[in-house]
Amino acid sequence: MACRFPAKTPLPLKPTMEHPPIFLSIDQPATCPHFGNRTDITAQSERSQRHKCLSELCGFQFILEQDEEEER
Ligand SMILES: [Zn+2]
Repeated sequence: MACRFPAKTPLPLKPTMEHPPIFLSIDQPATCPHFGNRTDITAQSERSQRHKCLSELCGFQFILEQDEEEER
């Protein structure tokens, strides 16, 4: 399965909001994976939070999923 990018659309420099990367939340504060900046929660559901880097130069967005099921 190949990703289809519109041929005439240049790739954005920043990640788009459509497919933000997903990280698992372990008891640690969410920080931007690039510079460790603090993030703001822009959306929240029961098991996931959408974070956005507070740095205007970065603006990186990602989703934090909470793994509540203890698998041991
Ligand atoms: Zn950042």
